Amino acid sequence: MTVTLRFAPSPTGYLHVGGQRTALYNYLFAKKHGGKFILRIEDTDQSRYVEGAVENLMNSLSAMGLQWDKGPGKEDESGPYFQSKRLDIYHKEIDKLLSAGNAYRCFCSSERLEKLRNEQMAAGEPSGYDKKCRSIDSKESAKRAENEPFVVRMKIPDSGDCEIKDLVRGESKVAWSTVDDQILLKSDNFPTYHFANVVDDHYMGISHVIRGEEWLPSLPKHLLLYKFFAWKSPEFAHLPLLLNQDRSKLSKRQGDVAVEDYLTKGYLPETLNNFLALLGWNPGTEQEIFSMDELIESFDLDRVNKAGAVFDKTKLNWMNSQYIQKMDMDNYLEYCRKFADMSLLNTDRADIAFKALKTALDYFGEINEKLKIFYEKPQPIDNEDAKEILNDERIPILFTAYLKALDESENLTADSFKIILKSIQKEYKKQGIKGKYLWMPIRLALTSEMHGPELPALAEYLGLEENKKRVKEALKR
Ligand code: GLU
Repeated sequence: MTVTLRFAPSPTGYLHVGGQRTALYNYLFAKKHGGKFILRIEDTDQSRYVEGAVENLMNSLSAMGLQWDKGPGKEDESGPYFQSKRLDIYHKEIDKLLSAGNAYRCFCSSERLEKLRNEQMAAGEPSGYDKKCRSIDSKESAKRAENEPFVVRMKIPDSGDCEIKDLVRGESKVAWSTVDDQILLKSDNFPTYHFANVVDDHYMGISHVIRGEEWLPSLPKHLLLYKFFAWKSPEFAHLPLLLNQDRSKLSKRQGDVAVEDYLTKGYLPETLNNFLALLGWNPGTEQEIFSMDELIESFDLDRVNKAGAVFDKTKLNWMNSQYIQKMDMDNYLEYCRKFADMSLLNTDRADIAFKALKTALDYFGEINEKLKIFYEKPQPIDNEDAKEILNDERIPILFTAYLKALDESENLTADSFKIILKSIQKEYKKQGIKGKYLWMPIRLALTSEMHGPELPALAEYLGLEENKKRVKEALKR
């Protein structure tokens, strides 16, 4: 069997991180099995048309490295499929369902449907279409269709169960009595999601459908359509929801949800993919950092969880910092220059500052905050641990030795700084000046902070005179 998967977003504005995870799982599965990953824009809901949404989606997907393949019937053209350009296909298929008696035209007005819904609600019954138009005979129906607006609905069986098999959730049954006569074709002649989606999956040769859990309740309708057409249905895997920290559904109200937002903040695409891959799938080992190739190699639907996955920003930050530390220096510096406000820095020395931050950044968007330490004067120290360190009686000896070494130097580089500190360490070993009482007081004197960028590079960026000045001030205090 050829393996073909698709990502089928509705263009509603931007690529949600949940959508990116769906796309990624489809991509990984396709690549793992030497198959295809195609992109289909499900744009049949004209009322939800958003200007620029398609471009936005495609840009985000490309930025995330998920290049889609050319699908069947489009071997010469690399753009995605657009459902809005395939209306003829849906109309042909609708006619087949109508003539086979598996679907019927419904002429009920929206007023009637609303009244029905209100009555059902008042009676505490589940809302749904009462199948009134099923009884219109086919000749009359065709005649009325010539000058009356209508929709086409599918005929859901009156009794019995639909048997569902899902690769994540296993087997289950849904009673047909709980399923509504779904609209397949709307009065504007556009298909609904359910209909276009199934027709396309069939004609595009989709072998596996991997999508969000919110589509699971639609599965019986989809399976019935496959049965009506006597088409083989793809296999289905429904992914668990992404959750906020408080386990509510991941929403914009609690922070960023667009892939674009994360990229603009300076999270790396590699990190996001790695992070999203682990939201809902577990590799079965302790490994947390995965390259794309490793993900393709390890990914499997067997290890997709049923339970919702919390989008943990602390973990995302940690993971991104790991990726930043592993970046090659040129690429890293390029990113820094893109995100840093260069007007605040000594441009000749900017790279020194950037290098010093390589181990201190969670994402590039925080670079200006982290750079403050390079161009702002140290603030008064209010941290108790820091005060305790600086109040140690050995500190004046240390600072004096450092100043003396600086006086004897012509310039200060990260390397010469290291040499100076090592020699002080050696000299004062007997007095117990080591570790915490060496590097930390110097860091505090230079920055007032206990944590921050790499100290040798920071010292180099500040330069000889500024080092002297700051340590003298600390000594006075
Ligand atoms: N257009 C649907 C969506 O926006 C696709 C669902 C599916 O994959 O079947 O999520």
